[in-house]
Amino acid sequence: MAKRLIVLGAGESGVGAAILAKAKGYETFVSDMGEIKPHYAALLEQHDIPYESGKHTAELILNADEVVKSPGIPDTAPMVKALIGQGTPIISEIEFAARYTNAKMICITGSNGKTTTTSLIYDMLRRAGLDVGLAGNIGNSLALQVAEQDHRYYVIELSSFQLDNMYDFRADIAILLNITPDHLDRYNFEFQNYIDAKMRITRNQRHEDAFVFWSGDPVIDKEIRKLRPTATLYPFGENSEVRDQKSDVSNQQMNVAYVDGRNMVVEAREPLELPVELLSLKGKHNQYNSMAAAITAQLLNIKNDVIRESLTQFEGVEHRLQYVATVRGVRWINDSKATNVNSCWYALEAMTTPTVLILGGKDKGNDYSEIDELVLQKCHTLVFMGLHNEKLMEHFGRLVESQKSKVESPITLIDTHSLADAVQACYEAAREGDTVLLSPCCASFDLFKSYEDRGEQFKAAVKQL
Ligand code: ADP
Repeated sequence: MAKRLIVLGAGESGVGAAILAKAKGYETFVSDMGEIKPHYAALLEQHDIPYESGKHTAELILNADEVVKSPGIPDTAPMVKALIGQGTPIISEIEFAARYTNAKMICITGSNGKTTTTSLIYDMLRRAGLDVGLAGNIGNSLALQVAEQDHRYYVIELSSFQLDNMYDFRADIAILLNITPDHLDRYNFEFQNYIDAKMRITRNQRHEDAFVFWSGDPVIDKEIRKLRPTATLYPFGENSEVRDQKSDVSNQQMNVAYVDGRNMVVEAREPLELPVELLSLKGKHNQYNSMAAAITAQLLNIKNDVIRESLTQFEGVEHRLQYVATVRGVRWINDSKATNVNSCWYALEAMTTPTVLILGGKDKGNDYSEIDELVLQKCHTLVFMGLHNEKLMEHFGRLVESQKSKVESPITLIDTHSLADAVQACYEAAREGDTVLLSPCCASFDLFKSYEDRGEQFKAAVKQL
């Protein structure tokens, strides 16, 4: 009898998984608590896959042999709890799809920089003429591609939620950019649980596989010393950090990448050296993303010329430190994707002029003190944009108070509750030569549909100034 595979959540990954499951002979059923988007409902109908929307019917779900769960559904959802309780295996779409392809898997995770690095690596493989698909959190689902047009390589962006439900999957190249607290509401407010999820990217790797990671990250460093991954290690970071890692953790021969003064260097059979000012993605964080991508491309035997071309010409990804316009001598930057404090830190770090910073939205348990120092160094005005700005007001109010006796003009705090008011406040506060930066540290769901929606509305408002 055909095995019954239930898909929970009919988004990109769920619908892809259902289509692949059907093609592989599973009895398939899709269930979504919310409303299924018309495009996905049409795809399910086209493939003759039964589904329900706006509910989870226990009798149709609890008889599953296996469940593919959308990464957006937490383990605390009642139906998931019931499935776990009765011991039904729950896997992610990536885990499921990987069973049906022999492609080389290049997987990227980290708290910040995933989409940028994934897109950059994809760009390098495309430029090199390889048969490659983009999957995970971006592009079409891996499952759909495996079902319809399988590739020889996949570049896959993995969130901690996807990694949570991966067991037998093995990455040929695993890239871990950094680990800072995020999504703690989904990890029992225990940072270590989230760290453990991220480290799953090295699971099942063999010595001939590669683990590319930022050697300057204290959390990753500790985990590597603890877990001693089997894969060959490829660290990147500042020169001294990489050296330490090389001598401490491994006696293996390693390719490493580092920034040394003005140059980015990848040590390999054919060393690659490039002045950092030529990198098309700006800011310290993007030097790291660029090194991670360059090491990966070299491991895939892509020629240095191609890597250099991509590093210097790649156009970047929307809503990530994206230049919007210059209005009356003020540069406006859209970094709407900065949905946690750490990514805002890197955005501020990349600022080279006095800055007006827009912060706020749905707070995920943020500790804003991480950006205090950069705020003091770079910002003269903070504009809060959210339904609930109390926590921001309190934190930065205290910071401003502590500075009052030390500086001539303390930072101005402005409380707003809509995008229009926030943009207007920035317009009035910014002086010629300044930058206005939307890098809100928070999720967008209080005032917007998504971070993309927030970024689009921001760009539209700026263009009307
Ligand atoms: P993710 O997909 O992990 O959310 P993105 O590539 O979309 O990451 O970038 C989100 C934000 O994170 C960017 O706007 C930038 O400010 C910041 N960022 C990007 N790369 C890094 C990095 N390597 N380290 C820290 N912050 C980063």
